[in-house]
Amino acid sequence: MPAPSLSKRPSFPVELSIVVPLLNEAESLPELTRWIHRVLTQHGLTYEVILVDDGSTDTSWEVIEELAETDTHLRGIRFNRNYGKSAALNVGFKETSGRVVCTMDADLQDSPEELPELYRMITEQGYDLVSGWKKKRFDPLSKTIPTKLFNGVTRWISGIQLHDFNCGLKAYDHRVVRSIEVYGEMHRYIPVIAKWAGFRKIGEKVVQHQERKYGTTKFGLERFVYGFLDLMSITFVSRFRRRPMHFFGTMGMISFVLGMLITLWLVSEKVYLSFHNLEARNVTDQPLFFLALTAVMIGAMLFLTGFLAELIQLNGANRNDYLVRDKVNLT
Ligand code: UDP
Ligand code: MG
Repeated sequence: MPAPSLSKRPSFPVELSIVVPLLNEAESLPELTRWIHRVLTQHGLTYEVILVDDGSTDTSWEVIEELAETDTHLRGIRFNRNYGKSAALNVGFKETSGRVVCTMDADLQDSPEELPELYRMITEQGYDLVSGWKKKRFDPLSKTIPTKLFNGVTRWISGIQLHDFNCGLKAYDHRVVRSIEVYGEMHRYIPVIAKWAGFRKIGEKVVQHQERKYGTTKFGLERFVYGFLDLMSITFVSRFRRRPMHFFGTMGMISFVLGMLITLWLVSEKVYLSFHNLEARNVTDQPLFFLALTAVMIGAMLFLTGFLAELIQLNGANRNDYLVRDKVNLT
């Protein structure tokens, strides 16, 4: 993908694009779209709703087609199978044409009443991204407790002071969704991805949260394991993608030097003791020696990994895409 240019000043067909990823949410859709319509027309905002059917096996798609016949604000995309919420968001983002892009869940847990204020925070207060914060949650304890832990770890690693990273209700300046890519299970970390891409003005708004009215949750506890692994990947990739040797080389050097120092110590101890005719164990009889050997080998392997990573990055098609924010006297 070539580096997108952020500097063009496009005109926007609509003020607000709302992206809704959904999996088996047929019962909620009519109510959701009606509710969005009521709130946004009340506030005089022009909008479009992009419904992304992530491979539903119920009648969600039929419902979308039916709704779209009478409601020109609705657009729909249907995956051939279930790819996950991140994939749905990524594809939805590509179709947006609004000045501001909001995302929300389809299950009526997020309230459309929040949309106008989120829109204003982006356009008037200049935020790049505003994340909802479900301060008062209506979810079972088995979910809220691990979530607290998850948010704490993410805050600590990313340095972004948000209470609720995984809230489905978020608003973005259009430039953010043009420039980031969401894949795997990365939807939980869009603020982190955005920050690493240079969008630093990240805010938070307390939002209403409802109990799920229809259907069931689509995520189990595995979300926390995968989530944590994803956080490590994002942190690594965003820091070292362009310079993998700095990471592998540093680790390799520490390991290699440590191993060498221990070996040197063991050998010189042996030489010293033999020189003074004192009894000395063989170097190879000491457990520390094996530790040192392992450290040297791991060090060398990390170095080789670093070189390979540099070669791969050198050949990568993306090695020179940088996000350009503005230009003057240039097209
Ligand atoms: N979702 C999706 N693809 C998936 C799983 C979920 O598009 O593979 C949608 C789902 O339909 C809902 C939103 O993502 O609109 C959030 O899912 P859910 O409400 O199940 O998550 P929870 O609120 O329990 O965190
Ligand atoms: Mg939900």
